[in-house]
Amino acid sequence: MDKKMLKQKKTGQIIVISAPSGAGKGTVIGKLLERDNKSRWLSISATSRKPREGEEEGVNYYYLTEDDFKEKIDDNFFLEYTNYAGNYYGTPKKYIKEKIDQGIDVLLEIEIEGATNIKKLIPEAIFIFIMPPSLKTLVKRLKKRGTESNDKIIKRFHEAYKEINEVTKYNYVVVNDEIDDTVDKIEAILKAEKCRVDRIEEVYLDTKEEEIHELLMEDEEVFVNTGLGDKLQWK
Ligand code: 5GP
Repeated sequence: MDKKMLKQKKTGQIIVISAPSGAGKGTVIGKLLERDNKSRWLSISATSRKPREGEEEGVNYYYLTEDDFKEKIDDNFFLEYTNYAGNYYGTPKKYIKEKIDQGIDVLLEIEIEGATNIKKLIPEAIFIFIMPPSLKTLVKRLKKRGTESNDKIIKRFHEAYKEINEVTKYNYVVVNDEIDDTVDKIEAILKAEKCRVDRIEEVYLDTKEEEIHELLMEDEEVFVNTGLGDKLQWK
């Protein structure tokens, strides 16, 4: 006889990952998926911004015109959406529930306003903020990207600076200094979250007295009678 004592939720979790641009979020998420793309799924957002060099439709984003984006807002297509630095960004609702029900974790790579909206809708989601190791590194990374004009870089720097102040809205903060270490930490968070007591669906404490007795007596070698009534002591 071997009875399980717990039934835990098998559903996937929603993991919201935010970071100021230049924190290295893209690399972190890429690595997370490289390590495991079976039990993790990255939601691809829609945006009204133009593709950057090297970006692909359906891989980085679904690129829409502003009008099409607005139409989709009216159609209730998005779980959340926002206007960030002059462009629309939104998380399509489609597939998210399906993935969660299949036990697959859903990663949402979104900015802070979107994360705040998700928190209202799905308070049990996990909110992780990735920080650059220092302001100097942040500036260096923003410049290195080289796909944007100076004005845009400055604008993004100011945005990033403001965003770092919002870190306390999140459950976890991970400083991205060394990529593998960063991803190890995120994986540790995801593992720990699976063990939360609020993921318990049922505790089986209905075992009958006789069954307990039988279990205790099953391997007599383990116990010795101490002579103190019927109290048992480990050998
Ligand atoms: P980028 O233009 O650099 O690709 O993205 C700008 C910001 O928009 C990033 O912080 C990114 O995480 C965020 N973002 C991307 N997709 C979404 C989305 O679907 N919703 C929200 N709220 N933000 C998003």
